[in-house]
Amino acid sequence: MLFQVVKIDFDKMTYNEILKLKLCKLTPMFNNLYKKSQVKRDFETISQHLNSIGFDAPTIKISTEWFSPTGYYSIYFPFYLLHPKLKYLQRRYVGEIEGKNSSQIKKYIRHECSHAIDSITNLKMNKKRQQLFGKVSKPYPKSYLPNFKNNNYVENLGYSYAQSHPEEDWAETFAIWINPKINWQVKYIDNEKCLKKIQLVHELFLEKTIKMKKINRNCSFYNICNDQRTIEEYLKEKRKENGIDKKKKILLKSIKSKKRFTNRKDLYLPIESKNELEYLKNSLKMKFDSNAIIPLLLKYKFHRVYM
Ligand SMILES: [Zn+2]
Repeated sequence: MLFQVVKIDFDKMTYNEILKLKLCKLTPMFNNLYKKSQVKRDFETISQHLNSIGFDAPTIKISTEWFSPTGYYSIYFPFYLLHPKLKYLQRRYVGEIEGKNSSQIKKYIRHECSHAIDSITNLKMNKKRQQLFGKVSKPYPKSYLPNFKNNNYVENLGYSYAQSHPEEDWAETFAIWINPKINWQVKYIDNEKCLKKIQLVHELFLEKTIKMKKINRNCSFYNICNDQRTIEEYLKEKRKENGIDKKKKILLKSIKSKKRFTNRKDLYLPIESKNELEYLKNSLKMKFDSNAIIPLLLKYKFHRVYM
């Protein structure tokens, strides 16, 4: 049998073909897509902002989600941001895209860069930071339920993510401070707690007393080249991890019992079939044509996603 080199081209492939691809085989393809991507452009913009405060840009790598591993000057972003068909599949299975446009991608990059800076500086041990934000040694919760009425926290990624842990509070605050489009002195003028936090970030980064540790960029924490999962396997795992099916059950139950659920901020679910969509349309008893589906579903924290 002749050995055939198959060139992967997402544009020409069907969704079912893409689902069967193994992540570890896609690294060259992802690297190529990255060169022309919005993620790269946004990362370059933020790298300049980091340079202006005296930091080189961290290393950026491809993964299945956003993170920055402790101890390394690296940040990771999810591969699905590299192609519209991959984004579609992520939305179809998991319901949400972390970085749906340039503005949101930048928010994630700023947030992760803060964690990366934490890894190469003595900032985590700063006494004032610990007093204001809490101790970084506090264990991470498995999940968190934000109190949306508590305004002691800034909002960068949304869903009051800063409330989840002192380290996340710091990263979110840094992300606000370094965003040139936010005039934080004005935006938080009536919010003393947030203002104090941002002011501390401001002072620490401008005082230039931050001590640097040895920079290690060669993180082997995760390497997509070794990820043997197919895209479909990854998506199914992520769906389970995010409790999508459980949340759907809760939603359908609340529709049947006619309970209001508009305040449920955790219902962030994909619609998976035309039948399901019809069911929701009928159950919610709202008049709309197909073009009006999106605003309606967004109101209920849904995405209209079905094949
Ligand atoms: Zn974080």
